[in-house]
Amino acid sequence: MSKETLAKSIREIPDFPIPGVLFYDVTTLFKEPAALQELSDILYEMYKDKGITKVAGIESRGFIMGPILATRLGAGFVPIRKPGKLPAETIEESYDKEYGKDTIQMHKDAITEDDVVLLHDDLLATGGTMEAACKLVKQTNPKKTYVNFIIELKDLHGREVFGKDVEVETVLSL
Ligand code: AMP
Repeated sequence: MSKETLAKSIREIPDFPIPGVLFYDVTTLFKEPAALQELSDILYEMYKDKGITKVAGIESRGFIMGPILATRLGAGFVPIRKPGKLPAETIEESYDKEYGKDTIQMHKDAITEDDVVLLHDDLLATGGTMEAACKLVKQTNPKKTYVNFIIELKDLHGREVFGKDVEVETVLSL
């Protein structure tokens, strides 16, 4: 399957969740066995030689390919969640959204200095969410951090918020 075919499996919904937003619905990719297998294979090929020990997924659409990829890489999976969801001691980062602030949390003992971390989410828009996730992971001082998205909205230049110390890769650039 080509990347073009993979991209076509993603449903586009105008004006969701608010007017003016074109929403990329990855559930239509996930429900197709061939598309899901292809995405899993592409991600595995991208990261199989990087020594990844933990895949950290961002709630909630990072919780789908994140564990699939972790399993294939022989890595662990770490959830990064909205406040109040994780039961043990957490660390957190807050970031500015269009309207007000948002916070994400991770278990304090989820990542250690010995880990090589792959942060994963479905889509890169402005980059605000993943920038906060990078800061959160850096609090635990891992050896290296990689950042991955299924889709990058290239016109929003979200990639530019990341420092040179993180490698940002996307499967589809739309
Ligand atoms: P941002 O922090 O602006 O990069 O936004 C990224 C987060 O918002 C990701 O978790 C995405 O799932 C979600 N998101 C933002 N824009 C879209 C969009 N047009 N379609 C689908 N999800 C989006």
